[in-house]
Amino acid sequence: MNISTSQGLFEKAQKFIPGGVNSPVRAFRAVGGSPVFIKSAKGPYVYDEDGNEYIELINSWGPMILGHANELIQEAVSDAIQHSFSFGAPTRREVEMAELIVSMMPSVEKVRMVNSGTEATMSAIRVARGFTGRDKIIKFEGCYHGHGDSFLIAAGSGAVTFGTPDSPGVTKGVANDTLTAPYNDLAAVQQLVDANKNHIAALILEPVVGNMGCVLPAAGFLEGLRKICDEEGIVLIFDEVMTGFRLSKGGAQQRFGITPDLTTLGKIIGGGMPVGAYGGKAEIMNWVSPLGPVYQAGTLSGNPIAMAAGLTMLNYLNDHPEVYSQLETSGHRLTSGFSNSIAKLGLDYTINHIGSMYTLFFTDQQVTDFPSAKSSDLVLFGKYFHEMLNRGIYMGPSQFESMFLSTALTDAHIDRVIEANEESLKAALSL
Ligand code: PMP
Repeated sequence: MNISTSQGLFEKAQKFIPGGVNSPVRAFRAVGGSPVFIKSAKGPYVYDEDGNEYIELINSWGPMILGHANELIQEAVSDAIQHSFSFGAPTRREVEMAELIVSMMPSVEKVRMVNSGTEATMSAIRVARGFTGRDKIIKFEGCYHGHGDSFLIAAGSGAVTFGTPDSPGVTKGVANDTLTAPYNDLAAVQQLVDANKNHIAALILEPVVGNMGCVLPAAGFLEGLRKICDEEGIVLIFDEVMTGFRLSKGGAQQRFGITPDLTTLGKIIGGGMPVGAYGGKAEIMNWVSPLGPVYQAGTLSGNPIAMAAGLTMLNYLNDHPEVYSQLETSGHRLTSGFSNSIAKLGLDYTINHIGSMYTLFFTDQQVTDFPSAKSSDLVLFGKYFHEMLNRGIYMGPSQFESMFLSTALTDAHIDRVIEANEESLKAALSL
């Protein structure tokens, strides 16, 4: 595969951009080699600067649920740009967006738009702290909630990929207010809560984790957290930046039947444009400025172009329940195919899967938390990743990521992925 144009761009990029990228995982450090620079994408395909075509399994880390360059969204954006790009003033679409989110995700009674998932989670814990008058938060090892200071403690995604879970620049004071527990360990949470009575403002988690690879909540885990939070007056925050409107119309919370107090949303509700949001119980959201004393603002928040894209996608998802049955069927077809190949090759790797999210871990352990995710053979993952890339399959360049399928993938595309997976396993393992 020729990637000489990408390599040239990467060399130049490194002169002007730290590490040559604007978000760390993109640099391919976890898998070695040089990143491919993407030029365009349509439906189930992405194309790089050298003209290589790939089947898309990452979909901008989740938001392209309907595939790339969806025509309805393109039209909505083209229409919106005729009327200028930003006003910094209230607009009709923001009201429609808020109303739609509230109707699709009933735990959300009021919602505030921001510009990224990072802003959403930072703002959600601020309002939880204001509302409860408490300082500490609990998060889970391996969960990633963006790069806000409070969350760069035992974080997943790029932070684990690079082995710097506790980033320099985060003060001890901030770090002291973040308590961490192992994912799926209710007893550990109870211990933290008991040891910090009346000091914990919020408990935040990915209700299905994407950021240590795909990890599912064990039976009773989410229910148990809900109960502890109710007993202790702790604000339960579901970070649904990856799962909201993907795992079902109402997100992971609908799929598992658990109602959080606050929810954070991100890229998905922008249909690929830079958007985030946080929302939940009116009683809590009423603390947000200008109604309440907790300050949070944004010049570009509710940006008209981003709203046009996001609203069009969410409306489509709301009106087309068959999207979710298709995503289920595709996820099932792909992971069953992978399981068959793994069994056929006499391997015992673990596949975690729910709906349109999955991760293949190179370990025989069940992956239920961060230590078990880290038992995966990362060198082997790197080889496998490049074998897949060479066969035209575009995946997240780290073991600690979930893949995200889109409705643009047909059975024929999925069968090509299954075939490439089997060939890539053989090549990576020299079988
Ligand atoms: N929360 C979760 C669960 C995420 O997966 C991410 C990003 N992948 C974020 C928060 C941060 O979102 P952003 O990158 O838009 O700041």
